Amino acid sequence: MTARPRVVVLGRQGSGKGTQGMRLAGQLGVPHLSTGDLFRAAVRAGTEVGAEVDHLLKEGLLVPDDLVIDVVRDEAERSQWSVTGYVLDGFPRTVAQAEAFFGTPHIDLPPEATSHGAFDVAISLDVPLAEARRRLATRRVCPVCGTIVSVDDAAVEAIPCPRGDGTAVRRGDDRDDAIDRRLALYERETGPLAPWFAAWGRLVTVDGTGTADAVYQRLVDSLAPFVGLTAVPPH
Ligand code: AMP
Repeated sequence: MTARPRVVVLGRQGSGKGTQGMRLAGQLGVPHLSTGDLFRAAVRAGTEVGAEVDHLLKEGLLVPDDLVIDVVRDEAERSQWSVTGYVLDGFPRTVAQAEAFFGTPHIDLPPEATSHGAFDVAISLDVPLAEARRRLATRRVCPVCGTIVSVDDAAVEAIPCPRGDGTAVRRGDDRDDAIDRRLALYERETGPLAPWFAAWGRLVTVDGTGTADAVYQRLVDSLAPFVGLTAVPPH
């Protein structure tokens, strides 16, 4: 067990990894890092990286591994992850990213032996494809505070944010064609990461269906042997 937990959250788009990852990071007291959020912020800020990834995000395509790895390494150093611990959401997305950051499970080194990205446990949040597609089509996100809400009718484009003064809107890549492309890419590129993490002996699979509270309780129960979390605080 570790004082500064390092957790990787895997799961297809719409599995709830953003919601669950943020809550888990809050309870563990570690930073939550979403590479999707990093790239969206870069686009908004008009940085060089933002200009490079803008069309990829809109089309639901993956950012090239080299660029993702550079951005994550910079962030790891800037935020001193080796000291703070982390919850990673949306990274790694390919085996090449995982190997660049965590080393390889085939050689007999513990994750601690790698320079950047030691990890304690990877969680795979399991949600059936049809359910994930439905969640993405009805997901609305507040650009001010990041709150994620679900609308009853996918035709409703925007609703007031329940947490603040903002308006929760559809994400640019939560449109039918981009949703299908992203889900298919996930199967092909990110699907192989579950067995990859299992090869380290540090993968837990959590049923991601049901209410967010029920999923979180299951997640905490599964993580207990790895990061010493028990009581679920009120949300
Ligand atoms: P997400 O918010 O995790 O769904 O990510 C939104 C978009 O950001 C993805 O569709 C990709 O275009 C890009 N992205 C985020 N993380 C990665 C990653 N680890 N590798 C490649 N592309 C990524």
